[in-house]
Amino acid sequence: MVQAGVTTSSTAPAFEDSATTSPIAARTEGLTKIYGKGDAQVVALGGVSVALNAHEFTAVMGPSGSGKSTLMHCAAGLDEATSGRVFIGDVELTSLNEKDLTRLRRDRIGFIFQAFNLIPTLTAKENILLPLSIAGREPDPAWFDQVITTVGLSERLGHRPTELSGGQQQRVACARALVSRPDIIFADEPTGNLDSKSSREVLEFLRRSVSDFGQTIVMVTHDPVAASYTDRVLFLADGLVVEELRSPTAETVLERMGHLDATPGV
Ligand code: ADP
Ligand code: MG
Repeated sequence: MVQAGVTTSSTAPAFEDSATTSPIAARTEGLTKIYGKGDAQVVALGGVSVALNAHEFTAVMGPSGSGKSTLMHCAAGLDEATSGRVFIGDVELTSLNEKDLTRLRRDRIGFIFQAFNLIPTLTAKENILLPLSIAGREPDPAWFDQVITTVGLSERLGHRPTELSGGQQQRVACARALVSRPDIIFADEPTGNLDSKSSREVLEFLRRSVSDFGQTIVMVTHDPVAASYTDRVLFLADGLVVEELRSPTAETVLERMGHLDATPGV
């Protein structure tokens, strides 16, 4: 059986942060995810209990294959847990039927992916507003303007993705995630395809969304500099959260990665 060095554990430490009194935006309890069956079985998450504070920017780090994407996908209801529970606010996501889950995802969760995932035939503005249009909702005009201005896209709203740089496309994806004011945004390596200048722009924007607008963002990254923009870093290894670090700097993150003997993934 391919176990990827993971044992399922219900006694893993619960990373419920006592450092703040923030409400909790999302949490998992003993979350496990097992892919495949029999000999091909892979334990991607071995019993993760973690609380994600509202109005905070959290980074998730760990070696390639440690379960970062799986954790994000299960926490966001994009992938089904094998066992354990996931809550968005007070709602237990793992108990919802497909219809209610789709609605909760649409209304309360935002996503930013490494590959932008914009619709090529739509303009930047149409891409940004697409999730709201699908939900039959109107954007709040003042909030829309604020998001567009902050993200620096005012002059580019009529452009299609191919007419935008990678950094601009990712800022469109950020604006799309923010415009509905979701309870929580999950970003899986949002700067993974960007050069360092574009990365900085996207990270500054995400940071401002949390500090100035009170958004809640969870971001997977391999990059200690990206992690230094966040309030808290969770370190995954072999499908478990093994450490956390508050008020990270690039240096303290690097040092902790060294302690954990975690090779930054490729
Ligand atoms: P990370 O994002 O940290 O690189 P992942 O969450 O993508 O890690 O993967 C965790 C483990 O689960 C890895 O061993 C990976 O190969 C496995 N895995 C992920 N997705 C699938 C899948 N759809 N089918 C089978 N195994 C998967
Ligand atoms: Mg991943």
